[in-house]
Amino acid sequence: MTIISNNMSKAVKILNNEDIVAIPTETIYGLAGNIYSDKAIRKIFEVKQRPLFNPLIVHLHSVEQLDEIVSEFPPKAKLLADAFWPGSLTLVLKKKSTIPDVITAGKETVAVRIPNHPVALALLKELSFPLAAPSANPFNRISPTKALHVESYFKNAIQMVLEGGECKNGLESTIIGFANNEPILYRLGAISIEEIENVVGKINVKNKKEKTPNAPGMLAKHYAPKTKTYLVNNIDKFITDYEDSTIGLLSFSEVITASNIKHIEILSKSGDLKEAASNLYSSLHLLDSLHLDMIVAQRFPDIGLGKSINDRLERATK
Ligand code: AMP
Ligand code: MG
Repeated sequence: MTIISNNMSKAVKILNNEDIVAIPTETIYGLAGNIYSDKAIRKIFEVKQRPLFNPLIVHLHSVEQLDEIVSEFPPKAKLLADAFWPGSLTLVLKKKSTIPDVITAGKETVAVRIPNHPVALALLKELSFPLAAPSANPFNRISPTKALHVESYFKNAIQMVLEGGECKNGLESTIIGFANNEPILYRLGAISIEEIENVVGKINVKNKKEKTPNAPGMLAKHYAPKTKTYLVNNIDKFITDYEDSTIGLLSFSEVITASNIKHIEILSKSGDLKEAASNLYSSLHLLDSLHLDMIVAQRFPDIGLGKSINDRLERATK
């Protein structure tokens, strides 16, 4: 039976025992295990049904720990770490040979970040090892932003969800790698491109949707509800075209009514993209639980976190 609890010492005990615990972060809940325990890491892949070619993100509590993990720290990586850590930015850097291949899917690089969540940081400080923590959802499903989402996904497969409230950012981290010391954006996320470019100038974006990518967040289909989901530019037309269907509507800020709209989730009444991002997954979880014919999402403005939200919605509708 999965227990939702804020008992930190119990979480520490389970992790020291080479088992796994779901943990809160400011992005989403993660399924965490000791990066050096083959047993724990294999259990993460197994429970998530995640293909082994998908590397995991290593979570640290401080920049000092980076020495243990990476062999190179390019100047622009340092600038980004100074600006955004602890926070929702993952850096992909050359790894030390001590990092197990199962963490990096055999790559020479490793993804690392310092989460900005008091519970995650306190837990990491209690441990003598970093944590690998991919999202605590079955592969391809909607990411969890509440302890209850994790519990309903995994029921008996994990012992414990460490309670940390609702995830403040509610979107996965932004992932940046380096080629010839220059940053490349691999995954849009909770920190916008604009914020990144304010620190390091114009960056390359390689955020293509791929069938067998080197990064799970880049799969064409990902973050998907079970209910058929559409991302549309013109809601009014779509609703008229499907007047015999029951619809769950995901709206940015507008109230839209029609007889076939059975439920509407408004992500931010004031039109704030950060607030909308933080509500995105919990609204998708809710709409997906209503047994409607379809979920219809409105395309977001293509700026700031609107880009990250559209990216997730595109992958949810494949
Ligand atoms: P998740 O933890 O499920 O949010 O996803 C982990 C993400 O980290 C993947 O989507 C990859 O994009 C990225 N990642 C992890 N390790 C590497 C790596 N060595 N090279 C490139 N991307 C990586
Ligand atoms: Mg994931």
